[in-house]
Amino acid sequence: MKKQFAVIGLGRFGTSVAKTLSGLDFEVLAIDSNEHRIQEISSVVTHVVQADSTDEEALRALGLRNFDVVVVAIGDDIQASILTTIIVKEIGVPKVIVKAQNELHGKVLKKVGADKVIYPERDMGQRVAHHLISKNIIEYIELSEDHSIVEIRASRDMVGKNLRQLDIRAKYGCNVIGIKTGVKMNIAPNAEELIDSEDILIVVGNNEDLQNFEKTFA
Ligand code: ADP
Repeated sequence: MKKQFAVIGLGRFGTSVAKTLSGLDFEVLAIDSNEHRIQEISSVVTHVVQADSTDEEALRALGLRNFDVVVVAIGDDIQASILTTIIVKEIGVPKVIVKAQNELHGKVLKKVGADKVIYPERDMGQRVAHHLISKNIIEYIELSEDHSIVEIRASRDMVGKNLRQLDIRAKYGCNVIGIKTGVKMNIAPNAEELIDSEDILIVVGNNEDLQNFEKTFA
């Protein structure tokens, strides 16, 4: 059985989530209190409903209980976002993912039962900043508060050396978990494998160690 998704709040973020899931052939129920937002998305997603998500009865009537994942993407109205999260969790949805405006909002969401809190603006800001530091950093993904993954183009200092010689784990405390060469991806890189100028290294580590690594190689 394919997973069933609902997205509440069809601003830029919620709309993007709903459209992407729909494009990947998943059934999506899109909910917003604003009629225009509903109309705009109605040709793209499977089901659209105009409803106020702070109205518990309305959400129950929509059968939200049967959904696997609900994304709460209400941006500015923090009160509505918190109330909606409480209601959706009480209804019994196993996974509720909520967009937070700031750290405090995020903390409250966790306390009221959100299974995952996301900070799209903050995360995108971090990614852009990492790209700005160096064109060699292709991707930056935060795994937890302390750990991240970076995708970094092999620098001149790395080319022609192998992972043993570079000694990244001992010197920087980071682990190279994969090496991309064109479309090929090696997810168990050998210590003896020579790094090519076209290679992209996927490195995991704690943020401080990764920063030292980036400063040296990026
Ligand atoms: P973004 O920053 O992603 O564009 P917005 O804050 O602009 O997000 O959009 C949030 C959406 O959530 C809006 O379309 C708004 O109508 C909707 N929304 C806000 N409160 C409620 C609510 N109580 N019930 C349903 N939808 C809501």
